[in-house]
Amino acid sequence: MKHAEDLMARSMRVAPGGVHSNTRRITPQLMPKSGKGARVTTQDNKEYIDFHASFGPIILGHAYSKVTNFITEALQEQDLFGFGATEYEIRCCEKIVEHVPSAEKVLLTNSGTESTFHAIRVSRAITGRKKIIKFQGCYHGWHDYVARNMLSAKELIGKRDPGSAGMLDEAVDSTLVCRYNDLDDVEQTIKQNKDEVAAIIVEPIPHNIGCVLPQSGFLEGLRELTKQHGIVLIFDEVITGFRHGLGGYQQACGVTPDLTTLGKAIANGYPIAAVCGKAEIMDYFTTNPSGNALFAGTYNGHAVGTAAILATLDILETEPVYDHIYKLGATMRSGIQDIADRNGLPVTVKGFGSVFVPYFTRDTIENYEDLMKVDVESDLKFRRGMIEQGVLMIPLPMKRNHTMYALSQSDVDYTLEAAEKVMKAMGR
Ligand code: PLP
Repeated sequence: MKHAEDLMARSMRVAPGGVHSNTRRITPQLMPKSGKGARVTTQDNKEYIDFHASFGPIILGHAYSKVTNFITEALQEQDLFGFGATEYEIRCCEKIVEHVPSAEKVLLTNSGTESTFHAIRVSRAITGRKKIIKFQGCYHGWHDYVARNMLSAKELIGKRDPGSAGMLDEAVDSTLVCRYNDLDDVEQTIKQNKDEVAAIIVEPIPHNIGCVLPQSGFLEGLRELTKQHGIVLIFDEVITGFRHGLGGYQQACGVTPDLTTLGKAIANGYPIAAVCGKAEIMDYFTTNPSGNALFAGTYNGHAVGTAAILATLDILETEPVYDHIYKLGATMRSGIQDIADRNGLPVTVKGFGSVFVPYFTRDTIENYEDLMKVDVESDLKFRRGMIEQGVLMIPLPMKRNHTMYALSQSDVDYTLEAAEKVMKAMGR
């Protein structure tokens, strides 16, 4: 560990906190060097089977040669032009329109945060209303419109809980917070703020708190309420999009929002994202001659990102990626559940498709309040134990794990053997 600590000390001399995104500070301190397929190697040359998947983008594998080769080829003749639209940009948008049910038109951004910002701004522009509704525990990026009531402490659940110093009070107070899976709460909030709510933004599966599944009728109910009250429904599919299927979770659940934000798995780890949706709303962006909501960005549609999208989608369309990652996801869920049960640990493994999360509780998890029942200390002990065994499950409580296409059955077998060792020691 000395090597990692020295490197972190060096990084901290030149970067505040030493890491370049808030949740990269972890214990034990791991400093990445390289990644290939389903494995990452740290700077002290230790190798890990990777279920962290960089919070989800890595759906195929690290340094996936079909993707990197395509990008390298594209870069021989393209980078960034700042006028018109490249054929790659057009093809990316055509692909998203082809696959994602709500996508009639698409604009490319560089991150999920930019996408949710634009989705909210255009919703305000088109409705002429100021407020939005989000759900306790959902994360939609770091901008002022949404950075409140994410991982709130118990006493702040549903209360005013800005996620950062420096946020504008007006922005914090324009964002109303409801309970996930509680339609009555949403209906009451809409009534109390009659004709003031521009948009409801929701992670259709709140993966930022692991894997809380929508109860039957919840997303359908949001669709009904938003239609009834002239509110724009935004599905934030930055995690679920392309990870749970080419059409995102909206295709799986059969509920079509007005706008969708996409990112992460769309490009297997390269920095590109999108906002898409109904043409009548999307045409309100200034990219359209009669539009009104500013949309701009020097690096939007950069060749690295567009080539990454095209190469990734080509593989997702033509190879049995979803069969593979779903199958291994299911094996991990049932495997860890069995091991926990056998060792007398109070664990409920939840998940969907390629995602699995061992919650250290036997109680049901249906909304943020339920997370207070989780034994966070045991959760972290398990994850840190897995890291000692050479398996990277991010050592942050309740964070989801992901399977990727490059992961093999023998990786999964090894992981389950490691889980047996770790849980056996914990169950003593
Ligand atoms: N939306 C969701 C659901 C996310 O999980 C994230 C990031 O984790 C974002 C938006 C923000 O995306 P980015 O980190 O690319 O800005």
